[in-house]
Amino acid sequence: METIAAISTPNAPGGIAMIRISGPDAVQIAAKVFRPANGQDITRMHGYTCAYGSISDGETLLDDAVLTVFRAPHSFTGEDTAEITCHGGIYVTKRILQLVFAAGAMPAGAGEFTKRAFLNGKLSLTQAEAVMDVIRAEGEFALRQATLARDGRLGKEMRALTDRLVGTLAALSYWMDDAEECPPELDPDTLQRNLSQIREQMFSLSAHYQNGRILREGIRTVLLGLPNAGKSSVMNWLCGSERSIVTEIPGTTRDVVREYVKIDDFTLILSDTAGIRETGNQIEAIGISQAKREAEQADLIFYVVDASVGLSDYDRELLEQLSDRAVAVLWNKTDLPAVPAPELPFPVIQCAAPSERSTEKIFAALNRLFSEIRFAGVPSVLNERQNQLILRAISYIDRAADGLKQGIPLDLLYTDLELAAKQLQEIEGEHIADETVEAVFSQFCVGK
Ligand code: GDP
Repeated sequence: METIAAISTPNAPGGIAMIRISGPDAVQIAAKVFRPANGQDITRMHGYTCAYGSISDGETLLDDAVLTVFRAPHSFTGEDTAEITCHGGIYVTKRILQLVFAAGAMPAGAGEFTKRAFLNGKLSLTQAEAVMDVIRAEGEFALRQATLARDGRLGKEMRALTDRLVGTLAALSYWMDDAEECPPELDPDTLQRNLSQIREQMFSLSAHYQNGRILREGIRTVLLGLPNAGKSSVMNWLCGSERSIVTEIPGTTRDVVREYVKIDDFTLILSDTAGIRETGNQIEAIGISQAKREAEQADLIFYVVDASVGLSDYDRELLEQLSDRAVAVLWNKTDLPAVPAPELPFPVIQCAAPSERSTEKIFAALNRLFSEIRFAGVPSVLNERQNQLILRAISYIDRAADGLKQGIPLDLLYTDLELAAKQLQEIEGEHIADETVEAVFSQFCVGK
């Protein structure tokens, strides 16, 4: 196994930078580069100890530094590890890294330290992926979700599910070997109940993934409504910028404009679309079809209505089409003589685009709409790789359950249940192809 090294801190000037060296020769390599102030023998340092000293290139002093030593298997990677902490200048850090390479270390690839931690059994694959999510987390929720996976709660749920499937497989296997006596867990009703519980748990892990995405990446929010209702104004006012075109001529917002807005712990990914309405104008029509597409993919729809005009039949029809979606109606322009807001099956927020008070009302509605997510606190799969595997496992369970209903011989269930168990094991990184491991860690940053 090669000894690898990389700068683990960002490629930017800072107070301190850290170069991590991991592998069988980590401490020997550090000893060639780092000169301890007290003259001690670096190669004899115990794990979890530090030394203060300096780093020189030949006779040229580069920096003061602190060396921390970890001994296998008690390190992040599970290997001997040496971490050099120096002043956080980009140039000085790179010079020290070059010395480390010259002393025998190889450049670490993206995510290679975490990959080694996984391969050395220090982390499961979901825990390794969660490390990256902790780094990427931009808010409290994203961090909490990642922590649930990193501290092993996701893995625990996954193992409990796998164990239930493996238990059933063991019973099937026993029965297939000795067909005279059918174990009680293979009674069709018991088996059906068992499968349906397993399915429900899997489904919940996947359903919370959707929430997890909202927390990690933001709430895809689209502003819809008739031309001139005030969508661009609302967007500008939420973003505090002049990004959208604000105009009195209906239909000038032809392209979708996107902005990120952070509100408390939520991030809104706001899209302002062309006003939806039947139109003969071809350029505008492109914007309208785009608006409908955006709405289909949105997590939240702000439906803006001009309160001085009131709700048109067209608005009512569109709102009906959105009845199963998360919608908040913005009853806008209430500073003008306004039609009273009607009763609607959505929260209706009375507002006037340029007022602070209106912003507060919208934020309060947002918190109400997404409060369930805020307090969920349950583990979920973390990314598309894991989600696809769990969906595949569900489809195998469904096939087995259907077969059971139709009275197929029990031994035919074996393959589907085995395949379902394999998908779950792959989520945790068991029996996983090398290419999959490579693909997962290639998304990490160098130095982690
Ligand atoms: P869009 O077509 O839905 O994007 O509408 P715009 O944001 O372009 O707004 C259309 C017109 O309504 C512009 O002249 C805005 O200044 C005006 N407007 C938007 N919101 C308000 C509001 O709350 N009060 C008043 N009085 N005018 C508004």
